[in-house]
Amino acid sequence: MASRTCSARTAAGEPCRATPRRDVPFCFAHDPDSAPEAAEARRLGGLRRRKETTLAIAYEVTGIRTNEELERLLTVAAMETLALDNTPARSRVLTEIVRTALKVRESAQLEERIAALEAWARRAEIEDSQRTRPRRSLFEDATKFEEENL
Ligand SMILES: [Zn+2]
Repeated sequence: MASRTCSARTAAGEPCRATPRRDVPFCFAHDPDSAPEAAEARRLGGLRRRKETTLAIAYEVTGIRTNEELERLLTVAAMETLALDNTPARSRVLTEIVRTALKVRESAQLEERIAALEAWARRAEIEDSQRTRPRRSLFEDATKFEEENL
């Protein structure tokens, strides 16, 4: 069965690709019967986006994708939690924040070590292609490299 799409057009004039509601050719956003609900949903969506932007600016939290972003959010959470009255629950939250921060740090250090080892492996491969006498074992080389550089 071919999938149906809404027969309305978007504000940009493109065909709307949303799934139509049952028994009408329009999606929730374009069905005249659901216009009041759709307007309310748009209003709430706008409020939510504005709130998200305001909070992002106020806390300087730009996302949770990079290690730096995760650390920033954990810092905000720690500071906000520290500002609360001391309770066993507050201590548990702070402990959990520390645990999570350690995980973030550990994963950042692993990323760094893997990148360094990959760079080393690429260099070793090039050196190997130019080598005439046999090398030490790869394990010895990698261990020596880690001792010297990491
Ligand atoms: Zn539509």
